[in-house]
Amino acid sequence: MTSNGKPKIAFFDFACCEGCQLTVIDALQNHLDLLNAVEIVQFREAMSERGDDYQIAFIEGSCARPTEEKRLQAIREQAKLVFALGACAHLGGVNSLRNWKRQADVEKYVYGDWNRDLDSYLARPIEAVIPIDGFIPGCPIDRDEFANIVKLLLQGRELRLPDYPVCVECKLKENACVYLRGEACLGPITRAGCDAICPTYNDGCEGCRGQISNPNFDGIKQAVREHGLKETDFVDKLRLFQSYQLIESEK
Ligand code: SF4
Ligand code: SF4
Ligand code: SF4
Repeated sequence: MTSNGKPKIAFFDFACCEGCQLTVIDALQNHLDLLNAVEIVQFREAMSERGDDYQIAFIEGSCARPTEEKRLQAIREQAKLVFALGACAHLGGVNSLRNWKRQADVEKYVYGDWNRDLDSYLARPIEAVIPIDGFIPGCPIDRDEFANIVKLLLQGRELRLPDYPVCVECKLKENACVYLRGEACLGPITRAGCDAICPTYNDGCEGCRGQISNPNFDGIKQAVREHGLKETDFVDKLRLFQSYQLIESEK
């Protein structure tokens, strides 16, 4: 706590596009009450001051190099509460797509003959390296969900994310199901809270918010078959954000 009783918060970025931090900045502009209730001591994307005394840490991005583990452990030791911010930190996210390839091939593809030791390894979610106290899902995160979660946190109240599928929100919006036009959608197994934004704009859900706690895989596989799709269409969708989990489940 600061001398004025405000909790100190820090934001950290690892391998990511930093879109979730941008969403935080956006959220704070519309939630000045929240901004006034905390002291932000570290937030590279928004300020140049840098304090190492904090109680709550938000970590954006996946861990993509062994050298980053030390930095993560230092954050864990300092913070009372650590939250993964966005799909890269929560799931491994789009970074883990490269985990299907040999790392040397990926480095060669991206950097050509640039001769430098990149020190990369399989991209992984933060929880694969340090224990976390929670996560804020999405790619990017939802600005209002972020603000609400931080408010609950400051009030010492229980954090609850929706644990029902995107299909519920999609049906409430009376969207035509994308399966009916022969496209796959991960809505039946994906955690709601995004207001089914992708199906609302005629795209199948890619699962950026991760899975609900009791996903019905048999049901979604049946839906895939019944609509003339292959199981690979469904697995390809899962790969975008959940390659780390798919590869781990095959071990
Ligand atoms: S979750 Fe998406 S928006 Fe957030 S940092 Fe990762 S790629 Fe960017
Ligand atoms: S479009 Fe996707 S989210 Fe919407 S009802 Fe169909 S399967 Fe569920
Ligand atoms: S519909 Fe699916 S992919 Fe789109 S934002 Fe929601 S959870 Fe993410």
